[in-house]
Amino acid sequence: MYEAKASPWFSYRLRRADSEADTIVGAYGGHPRGIRSHQWPRCQVCGAAMCHMAQIDAGGWLDLHGFARMSLFICHATGGRCEDWDPWKGANRVLLQRTRDDNLYDGPPTVRVYRRVQLGLEPAIDEAKLMKEVKERGMSMRRVLDALRHDKLGGGAVWLHGDDTPLSPTGRGPMRMILQMTTDVVTFDITRGGMAYVFLDPYDPTEEAGRLLWQGG
Ligand SMILES: [Zn+2]
Repeated sequence: MYEAKASPWFSYRLRRADSEADTIVGAYGGHPRGIRSHQWPRCQVCGAAMCHMAQIDAGGWLDLHGFARMSLFICHATGGRCEDWDPWKGANRVLLQRTRDDNLYDGPPTVRVYRRVQLGLEPAIDEAKLMKEVKERGMSMRRVLDALRHDKLGGGAVWLHGDDTPLSPTGRGPMRMILQMTTDVVTFDITRGGMAYVFLDPYDPTEEAGRLLWQGG
């Protein structure tokens, strides 16, 4: 089992799982596990069934506030007219589930299904320590951020076009980034070189606590 320490400033780079012995933390693409057809998210703008992007399980590498798994969906039915980059429009969805169900259920036909890639982890990176080195030892911030521009769980967001961190609708503060995705592992249709970010609202205990947004490359 992977030994992982929970800290908001530790991040874990995601990579393709390389063997059965690898700790599998989730998958990109393919048909999602444990999503019954009535639970399959539909776009709130155009009404179409959304396309599955990823599923990541909670564990020492990821604190989902008591939820066991998150599944990410995005609308690809209208070529971007639904504004699928926006965390509030309902053209993408972070589905949070309290139990982990690995069964396959039939889903609706969707515009695009990415090929399934199982995900493993690199060892933790202490991002707080890196930021300290930027401050105290004059390390280049740009170099540190470039080195964190990969698919990862936790830590800080490496923004392409400026800080878009969603604020909790409760007014109590910013949300916490739990996943940063690129188009390197799977060529997600968020424009080549684009990056997606998933946030969890620490002040919202409900299934609506997750938000996804992306910035184009
Ligand atoms: Zn749509």
